[in-house]
Amino acid sequence: MQDNAYLKCIDPQCGLEYAIKSGILECRKGHLLDVKYKKNPSRALKELFYSRRNPQGSIFNESGVWRFRELLNFCEIDTGNLEECSQHLVSLDGAEGRQSKPYHMSRVAEFLEIPNDNLLLQPEGYNPSGSFKDNGMAAAVTHAKLVNAKKIVCASTGNTSAAAGMYAANENMECDVYIPAGQIAPGKLSQAYQFGAQIIEVDGNFDDAFSKSLEDAKKYGGYTVNSINPFRIEGQKTIPFRALENQNWEAPDWIVYPGGALGNTSSCGKCLIELYEWGWIKKIPRIAVVNAEGASTLYDLYNGKFEETKLRWNKGRPDIELIQRYYAFLDKKGIRPKTKATAIQIGRPSNILKGLRALDFTNGVVTQVSDSEMLDGMSIVGLNGFDCEMASGSVPAGIRKLIQEEIIKKDDVVIGILTGRQKDAMLPVDYHNNPNNRFAIPPKQ
Ligand SMILES: *Cc1c(COP(=O)(O)O)cnc(C)c1O
Repeated sequence: MQDNAYLKCIDPQCGLEYAIKSGILECRKGHLLDVKYKKNPSRALKELFYSRRNPQGSIFNESGVWRFRELLNFCEIDTGNLEECSQHLVSLDGAEGRQSKPYHMSRVAEFLEIPNDNLLLQPEGYNPSGSFKDNGMAAAVTHAKLVNAKKIVCASTGNTSAAAGMYAANENMECDVYIPAGQIAPGKLSQAYQFGAQIIEVDGNFDDAFSKSLEDAKKYGGYTVNSINPFRIEGQKTIPFRALENQNWEAPDWIVYPGGALGNTSSCGKCLIELYEWGWIKKIPRIAVVNAEGASTLYDLYNGKFEETKLRWNKGRPDIELIQRYYAFLDKKGIRPKTKATAIQIGRPSNILKGLRALDFTNGVVTQVSDSEMLDGMSIVGLNGFDCEMASGSVPAGIRKLIQEEIIKKDDVVIGILTGRQKDAMLPVDYHNNPNNRFAIPPKQ
């Protein structure tokens, strides 16, 4: 079993490899790394995963992440041995990913004008800290433990810090959280305090807080759990695993995500590349990424809205200078990412190259939606009895846009990922108190 897993630079011209236990999270030249596995897992595991839906007393079967542990076995343990699992795998008593799978939501389908049977939405807000981040954080903190890290560090628009703080507290680790001062939903910030994380306020936006956190992690020693961490990406593969398992591993036509730092997009791309190579799926679903209009880096570059050239993965030789020119342009004009959906208020998506690879492999598309479209999306999900936050509302809003543009066809099967639950208590109150809003139900006197 040993030596099956290793890290490899995503840049094919570089291709440097590192040992899992090296503690290295980024390639020497600053490129992103992938976790790679030498052996192809057997398709017979599908039966095993299914049987674990009856957890038989094991929290690692209950966990929606570790139920699939053979497919992210970077610790290289005997995954059948529960004692070994509990020594290595970090889990909040099996709660991560346990409740999230795709559901039909008829009122959303009606709003999008597609048949109810063709639309599934997966509420990742039903994770213990309230967002999909728990899937990746369980895996990243597992690796942090493997390399004996004492302190985990992250920059956050809110949900990353909630997830990091929760697991750090549970594992008795220190946790430093860098936040853009005054730009975090109070419901998220309070979680980081509640879990005993050390908050470091940074003057600026998320991108500034992220740079500062990387600098300090290097200077003072800290284990970074932002989504540049390749183990986060491994844990988040279980989001599409659960979606696909729900469909008996029959791929849908589309999988739709909000686009922030593009960790989720990258993770879904890696998941699909692997499943296809292993012969677990025959068809490759297309990924659609939805940006906020006020934070539309990927939308602008991918669709040629900045310069005419459309940014592409280009077999691992993307036009990095085009990205740099775009960032220089934003700086020069003083353009800062701006949307009320703070979870995706990100101007410099750190996983952009992995995101491009995901879009390339899946023939993906990128769209953008306004704040008011996101609020409508959030609200129509609520009217089905499901909770989601504004950034997640970009998913129904984006699907609607892509259907109207006839990019998504009415008989396509679409799975959308609702990334987090509502932590901004006043957003729905304000929405429903304004009778001009599409789905508003104003209070009566
Ligand atoms: C982090 C987050 C996102 C953005 O995900 P990326 O992987 O960074 O693109 C979207 N929605 C919610 C609720 C989040 O917490």
